[in-house]
Amino acid sequence: MSNKGKCIKNICVFCSSSDYLDVIYYKDARELGKLIGQNGYNIVYGGSTLGMMWACASEVKNNGGKIYGVMPKRLVDLGCKTDNCDEFILAQGMRDRKQKMDDISDAVIAMAGGFGTLEEFAEMLVQKQLGFNKKAIVILNTNGYYDELLKFFDKMVDDKFANKFTTNLFYVASTPQDAIDYINNYKEPLSTPTKHDVYSR
Ligand code: AMP
Repeated sequence: MSNKGKCIKNICVFCSSSDYLDVIYYKDARELGKLIGQNGYNIVYGGSTLGMMWACASEVKNNGGKIYGVMPKRLVDLGCKTDNCDEFILAQGMRDRKQKMDDISDAVIAMAGGFGTLEEFAEMLVQKQLGFNKKAIVILNTNGYYDELLKFFDKMVDDKFANKFTTNLFYVASTPQDAIDYINNYKEPLSTPTKHDVYSR
């Protein structure tokens, strides 16, 4: 299969580092990794052997894609690092690491995860909301994991803490194939967000 999303080469995947989840989450992580590789993309991820992160990254590698791991020294010292990355990028801390992941990725997929994943997703979304990037951002809602959070996002809009414009900046995919189809067909917005986009409610 070919790489259809013209400008997109490296997909950043945020997902759980937990090894204690229901099998359904690892299954989707592996499936997503397989599709990333088969569609000619590479993965940018946290660089560890843990949880859904490794389930996804290892399948990218098995299917012809490259793995770019980005990890702060502190986590390397804890022994979480994999030696299987095509490129391993050492970061100073978690903030520096997010910057590095952002710098080398063209699209973002957030799978099910904990606070680490949520924080990474939210930061990317705010960057896009304020016009710092125009990347495709996808929530892969495996097993309806994010249903409650998505309802909360609606409340944010209803109560005017956020606007509809922002919640339209990401796509909610129900399957790995759905996520990859969205990225394959993604077209960057032509304009950057206006003051009205950002501040209206
Ligand atoms: P969490 O969702 O809390 O499990 O955190 C996972 C996210 O935070 C991943 O997308 C990683 O980028 C980062 N992260 C958290 N823990 C680790 C770890 N031990 N090794 C590498 N990355 C991690």
